[in-house]
Amino acid sequence: MEKITNNVYAGFNFKGCNCSFVVTTDGIVMIDTPMVPAEAKKWREDASKLGEIKYIINNEPHNDHVAGNCWMGGTLIAHEGTREAIKRNKKEALEGQMKFMAPDALPLDKDFRYRLPDITFTQDMTLYLGKHTFRIMSVPGHTPSETAVYVPEERVVFTSDNIVMGMPIMVNSVPEEWLKSIKKLQTLEVDKVVPGHGPLCDKNHLQVMYDNVKYVTDAIKDAIAKGWSLKEIQEKVTLAERFPPMGPPGAPDFMATIRHESFAHLYEVLKK
Ligand SMILES: [Zn+2]
Repeated sequence: MEKITNNVYAGFNFKGCNCSFVVTTDGIVMIDTPMVPAEAKKWREDASKLGEIKYIINNEPHNDHVAGNCWMGGTLIAHEGTREAIKRNKKEALEGQMKFMAPDALPLDKDFRYRLPDITFTQDMTLYLGKHTFRIMSVPGHTPSETAVYVPEERVVFTSDNIVMGMPIMVNSVPEEWLKSIKKLQTLEVDKVVPGHGPLCDKNHLQVMYDNVKYVTDAIKDAIAKGWSLKEIQEKVTLAERFPPMGPPGAPDFMATIRHESFAHLYEVLKK
């Protein structure tokens, strides 16, 4: 747990997404929850030492952002589309992701359950608690119902996976809207950007992310224009020139599956 501003704490080392909370004079507001049960329970304990957990906001429906909801208490808030998408989440997919990211945490705790948001919205929503303002903004991109939480008093924005390091994960994305959403994030008065994964960054990284989303989208558009099939795209387009494979040389490229799924999705979206 890292204190990143006067009242904001974030965890950047979870086996899952980055999670954060803001301590207000009237209690705590969390943004996303740890995927691994033991990490989620510890996170709840750590937060509870600083106040009562009043609200949790899920910025997106992916398992690594919402699986910890059930351990937290408080009132859960998310975009209506995110609530619908959490309903479609599969425990088997969560276990698959944990097998990859946190094999020691399996089998999944018996009391695990998907917890659905109590309050939803369809455009933007503002939550006022204590002396803090939480502007929950619709910023479609990484998912169609993606949101970001902007807290002006702390000059911080929590973006979830609309902002990450390296290759954007585009398996459920709305690529054209994503670019517009990043432009919207660039107008915010913030010093700190908490991305969905990877280290704390600042506004400079928003432009890097914009360029990365555009780079991948353009690469698939170009390949479609050349008349390539999806299979050809998946074989020929690696984007290794911009996103080098992670891990030691010769090790299996663990982004390959995500890249192939991202391309399959983009192919469907962009070929029209
Ligand atoms: Zn995600």
